[in-house]
Amino acid sequence: MANPLYDTLFGRHAGSDAPFLILPDGAEVSYDAFLQMAARIAGHLAASGLEPGDRLAAQIAKSPEALALYAACAQAGVVFLPLNTAYTASELAYFIENSGASMVVCDASGREAMEGIAKGQGARVETLNGDGSGSLMEGAAGRPARFETATRGEEDLAALLYTSGTTGRSKGAMLSQKNLLSNAEVLVREWRFTADDVLLHCLPIFHTHGLFVASNVTLMAGGAMIFLPKFDVDAVMAHLPRATTMMGVPTFYTRLLDDARFDKDATRHMRLFTSGSAPLLAETHDRFRDRTGHAILERYGMTETNMNTSNPYDGDRRAGTVGFPLPGVELKVTDPETGEQLPQGEVGQLEVRGPNVFQGYWQMPEKTAEELREDGFFITGDLGLIDSQGYVQIVGRGKDLIISGGYNIYPKEIELVLDEQPGVLESAVIGVPHPDFGETVVGVLVPEPGKTPDEAAIMSAAGEALARFKHPRKLIVLDELPRNTMGKVQKNILRERFGDLFATA
Ligand code: ATP
Ligand code: MG
Repeated sequence: MANPLYDTLFGRHAGSDAPFLILPDGAEVSYDAFLQMAARIAGHLAASGLEPGDRLAAQIAKSPEALALYAACAQAGVVFLPLNTAYTASELAYFIENSGASMVVCDASGREAMEGIAKGQGARVETLNGDGSGSLMEGAAGRPARFETATRGEEDLAALLYTSGTTGRSKGAMLSQKNLLSNAEVLVREWRFTADDVLLHCLPIFHTHGLFVASNVTLMAGGAMIFLPKFDVDAVMAHLPRATTMMGVPTFYTRLLDDARFDKDATRHMRLFTSGSAPLLAETHDRFRDRTGHAILERYGMTETNMNTSNPYDGDRRAGTVGFPLPGVELKVTDPETGEQLPQGEVGQLEVRGPNVFQGYWQMPEKTAEELREDGFFITGDLGLIDSQGYVQIVGRGKDLIISGGYNIYPKEIELVLDEQPGVLESAVIGVPHPDFGETVVGVLVPEPGKTPDEAAIMSAAGEALARFKHPRKLIVLDELPRNTMGKVQKNILRERFGDLFATA
């Protein structure tokens, strides 16, 4: 194949009238219409001087055109670099500079700001849709509906995707065509996707979950997506009758469960709900099953590797686990100190190897060498174990591990206890430097609206539930937890803020 990514995901649907995107108002974009739009955009990119291997950064709202830009990049051999719409000017400046993008595409409302940011960096700024000054789509409209697909190989870069920045500065993960294709192929098989599937798509498309997992799987199977601009309970309820599958993050599911309309009847056409990007509480999993009869399929992935594990389609989807390594993916648990493989059941760092594993961090050779071993195993930064039946459990991130008085403490275990206490909405447990213990446990609590948690009662409940060395030394009440734009809790910010609680004067 001259361009495996384009040919496999897009090109083979040429001429198909089957629906690819179903828009909120019910209008449909067929595969063929979508491909023509992409070809015109590819023509415009080539005419603008973009060459295979160049990077195109895009900070744009979710729309059919935005997704067609991804297809156009694949066809023109351009490396696609989608950016979170919530990123601020200083964050954008870093991504544009770090990636050396040749073109930056933004929405009309962001044009002026983006021009200021990209100034002096050699990147050409274009708006996606018309603002009267020659947008990308206006340029594309004048191009033919066919474009000669650029020749690219499986090892060539398809995308530069920045990590979510939960543990520090985002890193640009270099993903090859093969990385994306191998994962889509496996997921179609494992999750039984077919051309009859209609995926309720309410994830953002600047992140691996909505762009590569959801869209690539649909494209590979030839199915359709109900393409909602964002997650919204009412919109999901309105479109559920037409859908067969949905991919979400845990908060989507808790919000749906808050709505009494979301029940067995509303979900009777659905064959699959998947969850990822963050841990799904076992309690949510159970409530979902009781209410709808569906067991959410939890899986585990990351920007650098796409999907690593999945609970089984047939068989026991076990709450609190992320299932088994996907076919072709090797996963092992190692000692963080020595790198030696640990026996089954022991907690250690998770390492993965397979065709899904990225090519390294863009322009960060040292970081790449630290995390991507020569034998091909990638050190994920997550801690976990493999249980006696082979299910993988994630216990947290390595950077969040607390070592107190020589004991390893996993914050999640303590958070589960704190979260259950009356008046507590959620919690985050961090390790704070302590003169005697090295580090000690601090619990940060967010109260339920209008409630004041009883700190003494919580301390004593934690005292009963947990071994002494895991007891929080202090509780702190905050209105909310610091989160990144993907909604993930940023513990590094909490550690910085409360780092000197036990400092000796
Ligand atoms: P950064 O690497 O910049 O700090 P990030 O790791 O949050 O940010 P992503 O690649 O978006 O960036 O997220 C991947 C991480 O999300 C995984 O390493 C893991 O910690 C977490 N994750 C994904 N799926 C699950 C899951 N099912 N259960 C628990 N954690 C998960
Ligand atoms: Mg990460």
